[in-house]
Amino acid sequence: MTVHARAAGAGDLGRSSPAELAEIVVRGGRIVDETGERRADVRVRNGVIVEVGESLAPESAATIVLDASGCVVAPGLVDVHTHLREPGMEEAETIESGSRAAVRGGYTAVVAMPNTDPAIDNVGTARYVLEQGRRAVCDVHTAAAITVGRLGEHLAPIGELYDIGVRIFTDDGTCLGDSQVMRRALEYATAFPGAVIAQHAEDPALVKGGHMHEGAWSARLGIGGRPSEAEALIVHRDIVLARMTGGVVHFQHLSAAESVDIVRVAKLAGRRVTAEATPHHFTLTDECCASYDPVFKVNPPLRTADDIAAIKRGLADGTIDVIATDHAPHPAEAKDRPFDEAPSGMLGLETALALTLTELVEPGVITLQRALALLSWNPARIAGLAETHGGPVAEGRPANLCIFDPSHAWEVDALALASRATNTPYHGRKLTGKVRHTIVLGEAVVIDGEVTR
Ligand SMILES: [Zn+2]
Repeated sequence: MTVHARAAGAGDLGRSSPAELAEIVVRGGRIVDETGERRADVRVRNGVIVEVGESLAPESAATIVLDASGCVVAPGLVDVHTHLREPGMEEAETIESGSRAAVRGGYTAVVAMPNTDPAIDNVGTARYVLEQGRRAVCDVHTAAAITVGRLGEHLAPIGELYDIGVRIFTDDGTCLGDSQVMRRALEYATAFPGAVIAQHAEDPALVKGGHMHEGAWSARLGIGGRPSEAEALIVHRDIVLARMTGGVVHFQHLSAAESVDIVRVAKLAGRRVTAEATPHHFTLTDECCASYDPVFKVNPPLRTADDIAAIKRGLADGTIDVIATDHAPHPAEAKDRPFDEAPSGMLGLETALALTLTELVEPGVITLQRALALLSWNPARIAGLAETHGGPVAEGRPANLCIFDPSHAWEVDALALASRATNTPYHGRKLTGKVRHTIVLGEAVVIDGEVTR
């Protein structure tokens, strides 16, 4: 199973073979991984961590020495929810530009969402994405649609897609609203160990004509609402269907307090459910929409302070397993339309770690190690990538590392991001914590904050 996942990934073919890579020594950092925390240097050779110890010296003049003083050395981050926009929407982002944004954000692997044009709902299109991914600077995997064309009617060839390494199936961008089709998908996926049916939970009928959270602000602004109940209903329904079928369901971008509570109860009852939340859903409220700036338009929408508090509780107590970016680039002209006409979505890859540190770790909502569980090893497991990403920083492990300075203060500049798009809602915001170096399969793809190729 994992062999499949590796074979389909970026590591085997196009990326320069590990043997050609220079030795890397990461010096002076503090390692934080699932096993705990310690001060040690890390030596990387041929794509693998070969030594973890004190005061490691470079073995040759060609050795790349990366200064990690004041930094955390962690397993690379893994994003299970990235819109790379290829094929079909290359004016917003490409696999290549998206991967550059990813490594600048500390990500060593991303899972591309299938709501492209055409949709990634067949082996040919999935292969195309994986092949493009070989030229990318991080490990690129792809999710595939649950239904043909993401139309919610007929199941996509889940088995064939699984065979080429796809593990996450989702019609993301739209909710799979038909209960019978969702039931069949969950049932069918049980035949494939590690396959996950992931849901963008918003009841389609309830959110029709809505462009922001339904509440006091939508009423005041005269913008159609998307009620949080639309999410809670689908979350509840899919938990019932998962129990009925023995299937595994993953909820994407949870945004509402009620849904967090439903998932918590389901987990206590032993249901096979996992969930993610995005940085914007623990940072920004629906009040942002008062500016009528479509940069704040996203699905599910930004909600209330109470919802943010619930998301934070869920992240802290284990109800929510993953912080995912839902990185959703759009060309400036598309976002430069009236609020109710603009597409929804915002950038996320280059700010997710800093927002997690600034909004959650610094105020003591979660520990640094919990933050890394949410950003690295939990998503690696859900995406079936745990053999290559998210594992402990230890001898013999593939060298996928994120080295960041947790106290580096910086200001987000939309124009300085690596993404082809600029639709970040955080332009001008001051954040704490910045990636210094990123190592992907033994190659230093980010050094001192800059992408090296
Ligand atoms: Zn979505």
